[in-house]
Amino acid sequence: MSTITLDTLRKEFDSGDERIVAVDDIDLEIRDGEFLVLVGPSGCGKTTTLRCVAGLEDVTSGTIRFGDDDVTDLRARERDVAMVFQNYALYPHMNVRKNIGFGLKLSTQQSSADIDRQVEEVAEMLGIEDLLGQKPKELSGGQQQRVALGRAIIRDPEAFLMDEPLSNLDAKLRSQMRTELQTLQHDLDVTTVYVTHDQTEAMAMGDRIAVMNDGTLQQVGTAEAVYRSPVNEFVADFIGSPSINLFDATVDGNRLDGPGDFGYRLADTTPVEGYESVRVGVRPEDIELVADGIDIETKVLEPMGNENYLYADLGGHELTARVASTARPSPGDVVSFTFDEDALYLFDPETGEALKTKT
Ligand code: ADP
Ligand code: MG
Repeated sequence: MSTITLDTLRKEFDSGDERIVAVDDIDLEIRDGEFLVLVGPSGCGKTTTLRCVAGLEDVTSGTIRFGDDDVTDLRARERDVAMVFQNYALYPHMNVRKNIGFGLKLSTQQSSADIDRQVEEVAEMLGIEDLLGQKPKELSGGQQQRVALGRAIIRDPEAFLMDEPLSNLDAKLRSQMRTELQTLQHDLDVTTVYVTHDQTEAMAMGDRIAVMNDGTLQQVGTAEAVYRSPVNEFVADFIGSPSINLFDATVDGNRLDGPGDFGYRLADTTPVEGYESVRVGVRPEDIELVADGIDIETKVLEPMGNENYLYADLGGHELTARVASTARPSPGDVVSFTFDEDALYLFDPETGEALKTKT
């Protein structure tokens, strides 16, 4: 087990006459035994970062350390990490027992009996002990992914590196496997970097979440920290489901004026001092329907059972609200909302930097 430290990690690719900066000078420390989720939109550099850590890509500059050891120039098989990919990459002609034990057989001098015993232990841990004689094509997607995990676990590596390992599974199995994987990682206590583009998955699984955009690291923190106190508009927008409502508002003293009927008097004007306009953010769950507030016109109501999602028009801007299941405006109905200043987010309109987040 060890800490993984990325120090100004940079990876550029040549693509025709273009240089693509896939990873743009990232500093990141993944703690010993931690489950860190690297999350961001497609193409932001997650896989490349992970492949650099694994030793599958040469870095352009910067260093990677495992504990105190500089591993930047070590090849993949000298790094003692185990990767799990989206496509399970099982050996089709080998049964489950061989698939799980194969790596150990190659890398250690252990006897077949010893390896068999470990395979059985790992298979039991993953609930696939009855499948040891089967071939990959006879297994479901979830079972195949367990075999791929088994292959990683049996090596007892310094770190697990997982790249969207659950994204080929259907929604129900995915959420079940999330829980299993977390429990397993917790029990094994192995430093894990888990890549996903799915912020819900990131929020659910990570001890900490590292949010990436366009090759750069935006913020690292617990799910609660990135949700409540995003450093910028990108993080605020990316984290949270449904997404935060964002729109421009002009600043006049303590007054914010936005699209349609949007007007709001700030009790505390400190965050907007010196600004003529700001970006306003209000999360759907912080919107409260009231008798006399900011008017919006109902477009669509989505009943979710325990609550409803209300999609409404605010001066040409779509506003999303999570409201009580008893609130049932019909399309065309004008309703009225307010929110607590504590729940209000404000961003610099140029840089996107957060001026105020939830308190
Ligand atoms: P993510 O996993 O977040 O979707 P990637 O790390 O796969 O992102 O890609 C980051 C950027 O680097 C993208 O612009 C992608 O097109 C580019 N890229 C990744 N691998 C290569 C490669 N082997 N050659 C050229 N460009 C690449
Ligand atoms: Mg990827």
